[in-house]
Parts: sequence; structure tokens; C-alpha cells
Amino acid sequence: MKEEIKLNPSYNRIYAHGHTYWEGPINDGIDRGNKSYFCPVGWQRWSFYVTDNFDQKFKGWCICYHGTKFEYGLSILLNGMKPAKIKALGDGVYTTPSINYACHPRYAEVKPIFEAARKIFKSGAYIQFVLECRVYPNDIKRIGCETLRFKGARIDPNIKNEAIEWVIDHKNRRNLDFNDPTSPIICTGVMIRVTDDHPGLLPESQWWYQSHICGKNKCCRIGINLDLLQRKRQSETICNIIYD
Ligand SMILES: [Zn+2]
Repeated sequence: MKEEIKLNPSYNRIYAHGHTYWEGPINDGIDRGNKSYFCPVGWQRWSFYVTDNFDQKFKGWCICYHGTKFEYGLSILLNGMKPAKIKALGDGVYTTPSINYACHPRYAEVKPIFEAARKIFKSGAYIQFVLECRVYPNDIKRIGCETLRFKGARIDPNIKNEAIEWVIDHKNRRNLDFNDPTSPIICTGVMIRVTDDHPGLLPESQWWYQSHICGKNKCCRIGINLDLLQRKRQSETICNIIYD
């Protein structure tokens, strides 16, 4: 088990117009494998220190995301990732190249920000987080379709629904330790989105309502009564992303 998580603040980013922003696949000369990297608009990255010479050691590794509930997030960071047992696409660690898919509340819970935390997240009312990871491309053993019974057109304008889940080969290990240099997946940071109202009101979240969503805490942790959220949607309540 790790004793601490080291931060690497010089790589912290805000992904938004006027901050770090690009359209389409990034073209910055860094080799991130055979997969495109799109701007995770609306999210902030708190970057972790992984190793010196990161770009050299992880040349050709692809960026992906893993959405998880708050209580599991810290455990993952300290203990590594447990491969999923019974999942739609077989055993392995489930990741996605789409942050908009990773943050569905089935995966990444929506958490109300209470008074105490307001000092950090000033005008925020809700927060979500997902883990930013790098995977070794040859260890993506399966690329598959979304598994939230989505009935609409597109979850992410940049990524096809049929290629939105990446199953990472866990090589029969019980745990994938991010400190292990032979691990096929490493965690490079935590992606955070703070909003002044419920993130289920954001335009990019409207696909949730054409997929599986429920108010059961064990399943979709939405941090609000689902009927109340639906009423807010019907009254066209505006939700803003907060970057301060
Ligand atoms: Zn659910």
C-alpha cells in the first residue's frame, strides 16, 4: 500500500475556453499511442507525480478515464485497481477514453458540497471526480460498446458508442498497483468538475436520461432526489461549471 499520493501541481490544468483548450484530437507532438486525446472540457486536473522523465517512460501510452464512487476513489489510489469480476465485456479493469461516459453517476457519483468544503470549492454546489489513467495500448484487450443501455445517438461527440469501453488486461493479478512499473495501467491524476447546480442539468449530461439512471444509492449515486432533478430539468434550470 502506498503511504502517500504525491501531487505534481505544475501539471494541474483547467480544461475550458480561456484556459487549456483544443478542438479535435490533440496535436502537441507527445506520443499517446494509437488513440486520440480530446480536450476534457469542463474538467480540472489535479496531477499526480508518477515518475521523473514521465513523457519518456510512458511514451506511447493512451489516456483514459475510470469513474468511481468517492469511497472507492481513495482506496484505488492507495491500493490499486481491482479488476471487475462479472462485467458485460469480461474480466478486467474497465476504463473509457470518454470522460463524459466515465462521469455517468452509475460510475462517478455526484456529491453535494456542504458548507465545510465550500472554502475549497467556493460557489460550488456539486462535485464529481474521475481518475485520469494511462494504459499500455497492447494491454487494451477489448474495446466495446457502452453498457448503460443508451438509446440516443451519441454519448460523446468524439468517440463512438461502440468503442467507448476499454477493458484492460489485468494479467490475472488481484490488484493493479500503480506503483508497480510493470502495471498495464497507471493513474496520473484526478479529474474534478464543480458545478453551481446539479451536473445532471448540463447539456453534456442529457444522455443520462436516455440510458440507465436510477435514484438507488447502491447503483446510481446522483446526490439528489431523482424526481427533484427531473423537475429542475423541466423548469430548464441552468447549471454552470465553476473553475475558481
Ligand atoms: Zn442505477
